[in-house]
Amino acid sequence: AQSGPSAGITVSADQADKQRRGLMLVLSSPSGAGKSTIARLLLEKEDNLELSISVTTRPRRSSEVEGVHYHFLDQKRFDQMRDHGELLEWAEVHGNCYATPRAPVESALENGCDVLFDIDIQGTFQLYESMRPDVVSIFILPPSIAEMKSRLHRRAEDTDEVIAKRLKTAVSEMRHWSEYDYVVVNDDLERAFDNVRAILKAERLKQFRSPKIGPLIQAMVDDLEKELG
Ligand code: 5GP
Repeated sequence: AQSGPSAGITVSADQADKQRRGLMLVLSSPSGAGKSTIARLLLEKEDNLELSISVTTRPRRSSEVEGVHYHFLDQKRFDQMRDHGELLEWAEVHGNCYATPRAPVESALENGCDVLFDIDIQGTFQLYESMRPDVVSIFILPPSIAEMKSRLHRRAEDTDEVIAKRLKTAVSEMRHWSEYDYVVVNDDLERAFDNVRAILKAERLKQFRSPKIGPLIQAMVDDLEKELG
């Protein structure tokens, strides 16, 4: 089986994986659907996945660390970055500006590293416009409104007013569920997490993400065809 010219070319799965372009995994959900837990688990368990750190004009909360949760900056610097094309997408949420810096994402993708995004629906749709083949979007859905409300109240860190605002945002975001590539219902955390991992695994294997493997496969087929005459 090892003779003939077609035995000369080898394609390894490892090579295909190493030579692929990274993908952009966007997780969206209304507050209280468990998105942040799933994001944290993904970053913990998955190799080759990094979090995109956004810039924001929102004041830093005491629990947050500059450069870990966000890069905090003032409006002037934000406007500068936007006007100089340094942002991949940006949006105003609850009166503050948020955006994804372009450079770190582009360099990760070129190096075959996947990037995880925790951005709102406006940002997701902007990424569809400019980066579509790289984007994989997942909408995490709570099993019921009652469950979502009770998770929000159980967290107990927000006032009733903030919770009401989050629920309003949830309504307008959930209306767009069908514009996401995948919907994962989070009624069981372990199962929802497994489903998100399965999506990531399959998306990583899409052939167009490994453009260097195509010519190799072509050469293999050509060789075999020549050998068979
Ligand atoms: P928070 O202020 O609670 O950290 O975030 C408020 C909202 O802004 C969340 O829905 C979060 O997903 C969204 N957000 C955070 N960073 C970005 C970003 O870079 N771009 C966009 N479009 N939304 C973001």
